[in-house]
Amino acid sequence: MINKDRLLGTAGERGCRFGCKYCFTRDSNYHRYERFDLLETREIIERAETVSIIQPFCDIEFLFVENWQNYLDKIAATNKNISFASKSDLSENTLQDLKELNKLLKKNKKCLNIGITIVKLKNWKDYEPKAPEPDVRINTLKKLWKAGIPTVLIMKPMMPNITYEEIDEIVELTYRHCYGYLSGPLYLTNEFEKYLKKRKEFHYNIEKQEVLWQRDMPVLPVIKSSKLQDYLKAAVEKKKRKFFTNNIDATEFCCERINKNIEVVDQWSEEIRREKCGTVYIIDQKTKKFLMVFHRKYGKWLAPGGHLEGEESTRETALREAEEEIGVKPVPIMGLFGKLERNGEIFRETERGIGTDEFCRVEEFLEGGLCPDPHIHDDAIFVATLHPKQIPKITNKIEIASIAWFSLEEIEKNGTYENVIMICRAILRELKKSGLIEH
Ligand code: SF4
Repeated sequence: MINKDRLLGTAGERGCRFGCKYCFTRDSNYHRYERFDLLETREIIERAETVSIIQPFCDIEFLFVENWQNYLDKIAATNKNISFASKSDLSENTLQDLKELNKLLKKNKKCLNIGITIVKLKNWKDYEPKAPEPDVRINTLKKLWKAGIPTVLIMKPMMPNITYEEIDEIVELTYRHCYGYLSGPLYLTNEFEKYLKKRKEFHYNIEKQEVLWQRDMPVLPVIKSSKLQDYLKAAVEKKKRKFFTNNIDATEFCCERINKNIEVVDQWSEEIRREKCGTVYIIDQKTKKFLMVFHRKYGKWLAPGGHLEGEESTRETALREAEEEIGVKPVPIMGLFGKLERNGEIFRETERGIGTDEFCRVEEFLEGGLCPDPHIHDDAIFVATLHPKQIPKITNKIEIASIAWFSLEEIEKNGTYENVIMICRAILRELKKSGLIEH
């Protein structure tokens, strides 16, 4: 039985003002879990003795609990993994409090795992009338992830009228900011069943199933949407993310990942998630200087570039990203191919894309700091120039703080990544060999 491994509890008043139509808290047959906020710390510790996870906000959004920080401190005294779901926008102060709590738990190899719930992108207000919009929730997911708090995206309940396109879009918008996806069927309250029946577009099979997450585990009507769940699972696994059907597995996975010893990772293993990227090194052939952008996120001077979008080629990505960052589309130098002098600790050269005009291809391993989840940028490198009339200027102030031309010597001194230096050296070498710049 799943609930022997976790302790479910709640705090504050029943229910939450987000007013989700599928919520059980207002159902007359719903029996709340114990009010942990009314217990002494010692009593919570006793109850938590044999479990691995505590879920302390079972029927309320955590921010609506008075003194939620003190309440969470009390739960943290058990030294168990803590997990809860949220749909809220988070202030900097709230984020800071959660970050501190996670840090505290991590000292004992535990963690705080927060799931952000999104069940629909279109017509979401029909089901969650007073909740923050999905964009706000995605932003919360990003903030938590960036703060090193392990996250999952919750698509539970799986709404029977969600489209495959919506699922794809949710995954695309979120997979870089979570360890995995937690999904489950739609259990029906009487009220929600009536609501769905009024909506003519619904055609669904209602079955009966035991509800493991309710206190007395009743057998309730359920819409399973197995095909949609399978579709989500496949979409998630394509992105090298985990698919979960229960929160114990999700939380344990997240806590293990966040606390694992970095040294034991085989960083080039096929298991590590790859993200395809395209980068363009823009060179002024007269001065032999490279155009670099100062990337706020990484705090470093880098060549313009970014992640592949949709079906575009790596070259299209590199040129689009450059145009987004510096306002002009560089002119690629075709037929120039190069090799790095050597691989480094966190980068290595790989095979160039077949039939492409990539200068070279480099894998860059990212972990720690801004990237709590280890992953690899599979980066296709291009070389380009600008026409004399093309004047670069910052067009994406959110990501880019500054742009400037640098010689190789300046790049070597300005504290960028080693692979950037290796690539610049290789480009200069090949341009000289081809007579495209002077010796
Ligand atoms: S956010 Fe959670 S507790 Fe609040 S109404 Fe929605 S489902 Fe219920």
